[in-house]
Amino acid sequence: MTAPDLLVVGAGITGLSSAFHIKEENPDLEITIIDRAPTFAQGNTAKSAAGFRDLFTSDINFRLSNSTIAYYRDIQQKNGYDLGMKFAGYLFLLGENDKRAETLRKLSSKTALKFYDKSDMSEDEFLVLDQNDEQSRIMGLKNIDVGILGENCGIIDPDLVCNFYYNRLIEMGVEFKFNTNVEKLNMTPVNPLNYPGEPFLWQDKTVSSLTTNSGEITAAEFLFATDVWTTGLLDPLGIDSHIRPKKRQIFQVTGGQIQDMVSQSPYTDSKIYPFTILPSRGVYLRPAPKEKSFWVGVADDIGRDFSFSENPEPEDDFYNLSLYQIAQSYVPSVRSGKVTSKWAGYYSYNTIDKTPYIFRSLNLIISTGTSGSGILKGDAIGRVTASVYDRSEKTKLYNGLEVETEKLGVEGRNIDKESIIL
Ligand SMILES: Cc1cc2nc3c(=O)[nH]c(=O)nc-3n(C[C@H](O)[C@H](O)[C@H](O)COP(=O)(O)OP(=O)(O)OC[C@H]3O[C@@H](n4cnc5c(N)ncnc54)[C@H](O)[C@@H]3O)c2cc1C
Repeated sequence: MTAPDLLVVGAGITGLSSAFHIKEENPDLEITIIDRAPTFAQGNTAKSAAGFRDLFTSDINFRLSNSTIAYYRDIQQKNGYDLGMKFAGYLFLLGENDKRAETLRKLSSKTALKFYDKSDMSEDEFLVLDQNDEQSRIMGLKNIDVGILGENCGIIDPDLVCNFYYNRLIEMGVEFKFNTNVEKLNMTPVNPLNYPGEPFLWQDKTVSSLTTNSGEITAAEFLFATDVWTTGLLDPLGIDSHIRPKKRQIFQVTGGQIQDMVSQSPYTDSKIYPFTILPSRGVYLRPAPKEKSFWVGVADDIGRDFSFSENPEPEDDFYNLSLYQIAQSYVPSVRSGKVTSKWAGYYSYNTIDKTPYIFRSLNLIISTGTSGSGILKGDAIGRVTASVYDRSEKTKLYNGLEVETEKLGVEGRNIDKESIIL
């Protein structure tokens, strides 16, 4: 393999979208994308709940998500490329004094929201609004008093989104090399003297090559779109990736009344029940209309450790004793279903502001820290990464809004903490 100008490590949504936008801006640039998996989109991109929303409290997250949704929508509606995108809505079910109601209300100046009071909600035959029984009291479950529906929200198929970028990249002449695992980054002096032990403190440093299972690969610059694996790759060089992994699990529940529930909606014309966030502990039900199922999940925080394993396993007890108990109390249809599939992956968390990190260090560009929303921000993250590559101060997004590129970096970072994490 001849040395490309840019070697992208990671063929998930971040690597693909970033390479696509870099190549669009720099058509003559030689780009190669490598991944240790046998094909693209096999990492956390494949584990996603694949919901999309532009309901975020920090302005930058709104910009990134709103732009990405607009882009995906046009690819599907104008270009006729099916991304499995369905505007089923995101339905937040909230108790009377839930502060999130006010937070969400404020977003109505930016995006389409519908509000439902308790009497409206009582018309939804699938929900139990009042949590009066003994079990609900023990769990401290809140009643449903309010419903807030985000209309510019729904579900998507990450595999189809990645397929879109992959095909475009192939057409543009970008090379892919799969089954290629990066084992080590080789740091060398910019001006080598060929003394043993280089690089010394007083020498400027660069990453000249990567050691992989298929030999050494050199390039002028490297883009790491390696999600939770970024830390393990950069730590030996003393470069901080600023992220921590948290395990996330999804349980697909099928059968009984779920089949009827998932394929109708009192809230939108989509004939798909919305992506629903229950009032307690952030438990969500993501409709999976093709499988006539709901995917039940949660972004649990304290109590869920930061450990990391290559093959995270979903925990049956976590479903049976935690998720199921809350879900069945609000949505009795869940009682008639069975777990027909389950999986686990990781959020690559920026633990401070829950917003991606996209920055340069040496001749590396690092794009990580998607914090659980890397699909729904995927296109915009690619655009910002292309700006970091080009050293552009501003990134023009697809929706016409701008982002100051440095704000997503490390040195010039200036971002409000995101409070809607699902
Ligand atoms: C359970 C769950 C639910 C989620 N729900 C949503 C949601 O509803 N909406 C949403 O937008 N996002 C969601 N996410 C988050 C989303 O999946 C991620 O933000 C996104 O997939 C990150 O994409 P990525 O390309 O950065 O990472 P990945 O898809 O993980 O890609 C990283 C790639 O790097 C490769 N790699 C790693 N190390 C090496 C190495 N040493 N050598 C070569 N290749 C390497 C991997 O093989 C992988 O393909 C969810 C995630 C999980 C786990």
